[in-house]
Amino acid sequence: MKELTPLFDLDAMEPVQRNSNGLTGQDVLSVAQFDREKLEYVFARAREMRAMVGKIGGTDLLKGHVLACLFYEPSTRTSSSFIAAMERLGGSVIPITSGVKFSSVSKGETLADTIRTLEQYSDAIVLRHPKIGSAQVAADYASVPVLNAGDGAGEHPTQALLDLFTIREELGRIDGLKVAMVGDLRYGRTVQSLTKLLLNYDVSLRFVSPEILRLPLTTMNQVIDAKKDVRETHDVADVIENADVLYVTRVQKERFSDLSQYEEVKDYYEITTELMEKAKEKMVVMHPLPRVGEIHYAVDSDPRAAYFRQVKNGMYIRMALLAAVLGKA
Ligand code: ASP
Repeated sequence: MKELTPLFDLDAMEPVQRNSNGLTGQDVLSVAQFDREKLEYVFARAREMRAMVGKIGGTDLLKGHVLACLFYEPSTRTSSSFIAAMERLGGSVIPITSGVKFSSVSKGETLADTIRTLEQYSDAIVLRHPKIGSAQVAADYASVPVLNAGDGAGEHPTQALLDLFTIREELGRIDGLKVAMVGDLRYGRTVQSLTKLLLNYDVSLRFVSPEILRLPLTTMNQVIDAKKDVRETHDVADVIENADVLYVTRVQKERFSDLSQYEEVKDYYEITTELMEKAKEKMVVMHPLPRVGEIHYAVDSDPRAAYFRQVKNGMYIRMALLAAVLGKA
């Protein structure tokens, strides 16, 4: 065979720059990895992403990079915002997001083998899985960064980051705020993760739930150890007047083994326009979504209803995280 002309002039190519932001090459598994400094870093990058998207829509910062999105549980926002984030940064995605039923998982492939396969094609893996601790298992097998997109009732760190970012951007600060979490505090993983992140700040916490959906003791003990001003109640009327943030959650039917228990508590809380009349003029109502009736549609036009702005912030936060773990931010 005659000698080939090289396709690539590798000598002329810029080597990959690796930044030392503490996130490059790292997994994002738990909010425990984030202290105030790292949070400020991610938020600053997310603001840059917002400004860039506002001006030009996208860049080629992550051109040539591939992200695998592996979802064993349904998702609308988390999956599509990771995909949008990667694409706005010029990268591309392997989307296994319409249920693993169309992948070899349905043939009985283990998580370990699926992860070891996907890492052959990709530079990072996003995983959502119904089992607590599965993101850690994936990270143990993968040599590329794994981002936890929700592990059962465990953690949802990227959601907590976008939640905290939303609070910061909507109210201009985090220290000094009174944050009330309402609904399913037991199975709501976003509540676990956001609560832990908030412990980095000087906040008051109010937990509002029916008895069977109270915040798990392990998380409550962390709140107590951090010496936060904290109270629990069953009644949203106890917190509405003083809350700066009302973080409402869905009662998670899929986590109940006894469906009659779900029926008992599913309509426990409804945020209505009448209730909002009692709230402060400057406060925010948030929800990780999906909602199934716990915030009335009539509340959506209230300027304090921040849940769709919160959705958008999810894309900026995930852009910041992807750029950081891939060593480009
Ligand atoms: N979307 C959020 C989550 O994945 C909240 C929910 O499903 O209710 O945890």
